[in-house]
Amino acid sequence: MAKVNEIFGSMVFNEAVMRERLPKETFKQLQKTIHGGKSLDINIATVVANAMKDWAIEKGATHFTHWFQPMTGITAEKHDSFIAPTTDGKVIMEFSGKDLVQGEPDASSFPSGGLRATFEARGYTSWDPTSYAFIKDNVLCIPTAFCSYGGEALDKKTPLLRSMEALNRQALRILRLFGHKDVKSVNTTVGPEQEYFLIDKELYEKRKDLIYTGRTLLGARAPKGQELEDHYFGSIKPRVQAFMHELNAELWKLGILAKSEHNEVAPSQHEFAPFFTTANIAADHNQLTMELLQKIAKKHGMVCLLHEKPFAGVNGSGKHNNWSICTNTGINLLDPGDTPSENAQFLTFLCAVLKAIDEYQDLLRISVATAGNDHRLGANEAPPAIMSVFLGDQLTEILESIEQQVQCGNKEHELLRIGVDVLPKFPKDTTDRNRTSPFAFTGNKFEFRSLGSSLSISGPNVVLNTTVAQSLSQFADVLEQAENFEEALQKLIRDTIIAHKRIIFNGNGYDSEWVKEAQRRGLLNLKSTPDALPYLICEKNVKLFTTHKVFSETELHSRFEILNESYVKVLNIEGLTMVDMTRKDILPAASKFAKHLVEVALLKKQLGEDVNDTYETELAKTVSMLTAQIYSKVKALESALIGAKEVKGISKLSTYYRDSVFAAMNELRAVVDELECTMDKQLWPYPSYGELLFGIK
Ligand code: ADP
Ligand code: MG
Repeated sequence: MAKVNEIFGSMVFNEAVMRERLPKETFKQLQKTIHGGKSLDINIATVVANAMKDWAIEKGATHFTHWFQPMTGITAEKHDSFIAPTTDGKVIMEFSGKDLVQGEPDASSFPSGGLRATFEARGYTSWDPTSYAFIKDNVLCIPTAFCSYGGEALDKKTPLLRSMEALNRQALRILRLFGHKDVKSVNTTVGPEQEYFLIDKELYEKRKDLIYTGRTLLGARAPKGQELEDHYFGSIKPRVQAFMHELNAELWKLGILAKSEHNEVAPSQHEFAPFFTTANIAADHNQLTMELLQKIAKKHGMVCLLHEKPFAGVNGSGKHNNWSICTNTGINLLDPGDTPSENAQFLTFLCAVLKAIDEYQDLLRISVATAGNDHRLGANEAPPAIMSVFLGDQLTEILESIEQQVQCGNKEHELLRIGVDVLPKFPKDTTDRNRTSPFAFTGNKFEFRSLGSSLSISGPNVVLNTTVAQSLSQFADVLEQAENFEEALQKLIRDTIIAHKRIIFNGNGYDSEWVKEAQRRGLLNLKSTPDALPYLICEKNVKLFTTHKVFSETELHSRFEILNESYVKVLNIEGLTMVDMTRKDILPAASKFAKHLVEVALLKKQLGEDVNDTYETELAKTVSMLTAQIYSKVKALESALIGAKEVKGISKLSTYYRDSVFAAMNELRAVVDELECTMDKQLWPYPSYGELLFGIK
């Protein structure tokens, strides 16, 4: 491999390339757009487009695309070549300013939740200059936002950018009060840790469930799972190492800060983490990472599973969204700092986060709610569905002493005065990480740990940014009016702690006691996606998003539709796949096995009393009994699927799918798995859990 610093960013039209290739004045104007949000003049766009095209062609690109993130959760691209015909039968390479800044893809086949009628199918993509253009597979990709003809957001990027802007506005108000005149903007930073499975491609192709749904709908446990804890951080197998090697190189070329990689808890499970960056770029990069994980795995004869729960009985895969707030001058606002004033500021932002999580537990839960993730949350392998904040003992003690108005660690002394006393220094990296908390403070950032592995990180960050912006705006309203800032701040922080301390929980989130305790505290426990989604459009949340101009009410309703629809569609596909597998493969295999057993038993009987046919006869009975049960349960599943047609209303429908279809699937699976354990291996139509999980040598 070439030197990392040579390949890093080599496929990205980044600031260094811009500086080198753009006229000075154009570069300056573009920087103002990128960093200051100034809108870009079309003449400037033309110069930029031209430089971009020349650069891309030199790198082998033949096409360009507006790369966007529709509500499918994955990315979309439609390639256009640079060619334009000339009168002499040749072509020239063209790429205009208009091509760069705006596209008009047909939006009619993307989820819109009723926003887009087919007669106004047009959608618009518009360039997001804050995320660099890059080349992927000889295509110049321009990161864009995607909206409808009427201007409503149809994608995941637009609300994320709006939420970052909301947080910027409110955080600046607070920073002004703390006397930061030099700070021009505030950004959120994100580093997502990504879990995934790698399994052998040949085995994958033999399983319809993996192909259609990304998870095994059936499958008896292997004798060994993750109980020996021998996979976590274990030495990486050569085939996986080769894959990671190529992955890193490809990510680095795209300017993605690929940093760490290791084996995860479950067999065949791994984790990847980049160095953190600005939230919208982190979101773009994570989408690209997921795409490359899958693409490069195939080249190595493997398939990368990003499903939240590909296998029953071993851990599923999640994503940890490490999140913080940072000024353009490089100050991490969630870093406690050394001076009294820095500490006061830290406590203000910390309290803003506590208030946000407590008041908008529902939105946080919704931001990670999908059919796939429902398998993990609350199943003692990922945080519970109850939202809470882990602060660690030290920080909690400080908040308690502020609340009780006593000096920290020495309760007889006078009160701890915010902005006057220096807080004790916290160790940055608290080693006793609480792995069971959904939202943990980790020294200078928060780690939101409830995301599913395939999720776009955009949604959770939209919620974090907007809800914290809301807390900050309320804080600023109070503090801006205050006659004595110090006193007002002291009171504000204390009041916030008193009002929202119920959200702090440092104990074991997997403990059943916590469920009861959380209930006593009045915290929400939204166990499944259909339970959570209705909260999205309640008055409080509509007000939040419209006040901060992150979603209009119409947009919010459209997201509500889309989230419900996709939940229903996922379960419908899973149900149909299960019916297909059972009827076409499992039942015929069971009959074949029974036939074989019966034939042998009969033959043995013909030989007379001396030949024992207990095994064949008993097993024939068991297999026949299980087969009959499977037959009846698959019919029940079919009726449940048909019954869905009678259910009116999207919320009722998703509840129906959970209670009827999903329940019927679980019943069927239990018997099929039992059958698998009794069957002749040669006759079982699918690779086993053992082969799938331990198949990579
Ligand atoms: P772990 O949580 O496994 O202990 P680390 O503490 O090394 O791992 O960090 C995990 C992720 O958090 C990395 O992607 C890292 O870049 C990111 N991270 C570190 N600091 C920040 C920050 N200020 N803002 C956002 N993400 C951050
Ligand atoms: Mg982590």
